[in-house]
Amino acid sequence: MSSEGHRMDPEDWDAFRASLHATLDRCIDHVQDARSRPWQPVPDDFDRAIAITDSPRDVLTDLTDTILPTSTGNTHPAFFGWVHGTGQATGLAAELVAAAMNSNCGGRDHGAIRIEQEVIRWLCATAGLPQDASGVLTTGTSQATIYALSAARVAAFGAGIRETGIAGLPPLRVYVAQGAHSCMRQAMQVLGHGSDSVQTVALTNGAMDTQALAAQIDRDIAAGIHPLAIVGTAGSVNTGTYDDFRALADLAQTHGTWLHIDAAFGYWSRLAEAPWRHLSDGMELANSIALDAHKWLGVQYDCGACLMRSSAVHRATFADRAEYLTQQREGLAAGTWWPTDYGTELSRGFRALKLWTALQTHGSAKIGQVITDNCKQAALMGALVDASPHLTLAAPVVSNLCVFTPKKGDAAQIAAALQISGEVVFSTTTLDGQTCLRAAIVNHRTTSDTIHAAIAAVERLIDAEV
Ligand SMILES: *Cc1c(COP(=O)(O)O)cnc(C)c1O
Repeated sequence: MSSEGHRMDPEDWDAFRASLHATLDRCIDHVQDARSRPWQPVPDDFDRAIAITDSPRDVLTDLTDTILPTSTGNTHPAFFGWVHGTGQATGLAAELVAAAMNSNCGGRDHGAIRIEQEVIRWLCATAGLPQDASGVLTTGTSQATIYALSAARVAAFGAGIRETGIAGLPPLRVYVAQGAHSCMRQAMQVLGHGSDSVQTVALTNGAMDTQALAAQIDRDIAAGIHPLAIVGTAGSVNTGTYDDFRALADLAQTHGTWLHIDAAFGYWSRLAEAPWRHLSDGMELANSIALDAHKWLGVQYDCGACLMRSSAVHRATFADRAEYLTQQREGLAAGTWWPTDYGTELSRGFRALKLWTALQTHGSAKIGQVITDNCKQAALMGALVDASPHLTLAAPVVSNLCVFTPKKGDAAQIAAALQISGEVVFSTTTLDGQTCLRAAIVNHRTTSDTIHAAIAAVERLIDAEV
């Protein structure tokens, strides 16, 4: 039986070591063989197999035999659904080391904090933000958007609203292009202003129409509404388009309004070759940027970031130390940068290590090659769709997304059939009232052959439906 102080440690470390080595081998096999393993439905008896019982057991074989095979399938090269990063082999090492360290990254002075600080410095520099910029890692872009719009509110009305609340504020508006991600609506709900405060602006050529935006802001100001933030998108979720950030920055400056950029996946196109590299020009003018490392860079879930132009505004929005969190001059309670001062989390994990590992293992040049490959693959898919008698392109391909409709048959049924057959995972979306097949290529395992095979599979299915 276990004894005090050892109850949760392995009883036999040698046996544990051997079985964990075997577990690691299975995990390496899983990642190495990712190209041969598409998404598969969860087995019927899965829920029973994983039901938590009152009979504790060694679960290492459950982990590898029962749970490991049931992944989302996004590790496969023909997984194009939603915007799912595919993961990296070196992420296994980072996650293992992070688990061994079990660092609490809320603050204090230890290695994990320095790693996060360095990763944030790299992200800000790559965005083109000034030296004084700030940032913090988040679960993803949704959380980062809440942080960014909170900061916009403090910048507009002062940190005093943290005490007094929002009751005395005028009605607020946040402007987004048509097709912008739903996380902006969610952020304004959480912040207490309601999603009616998110104003959709029409598109021209796939980007927010800045004239329509200017006219809308003028109308709102005349009606006593405060323009809190203009939100540009770098890589729209439906079609992969980018707003004109320089034009948005000009308008934001004219009205003293915050410019936030949702760069969930588009951030990484800054490392691509021309012409894709220039899609995000002007991003450096933003007051805040939300981005994900778990999408296009392929860092293991979850890992996103909120970057802010002004570290002073960032701190003013969140820093609030209770007496038991006092920073000291020396010892573990020292350290000048505590992530808890830059967000709502106190206890937090060591997300920075897998991102640091990815950046340092591959370097900007190789990451840029993957981004470029994916944009070329989306262009190839667009050309194949254009050349197909069965398919119609639903929007021009500008980055890594290709959206198209079948000339006969139902897009959602085609998507489901191809997922179940394991050939390819498309997701669906609706453009101009039409259901489309949608590929967001953010996958370092995808090749041109994968693209040819994916379109051939769609065509075969449509042919067979006659
Ligand atoms: C995925 C996505 C989001 C939300 O990011 P999460 O990391 O899933 O919270 C926001 N905007 C865009 C454009 C996205 O693709």
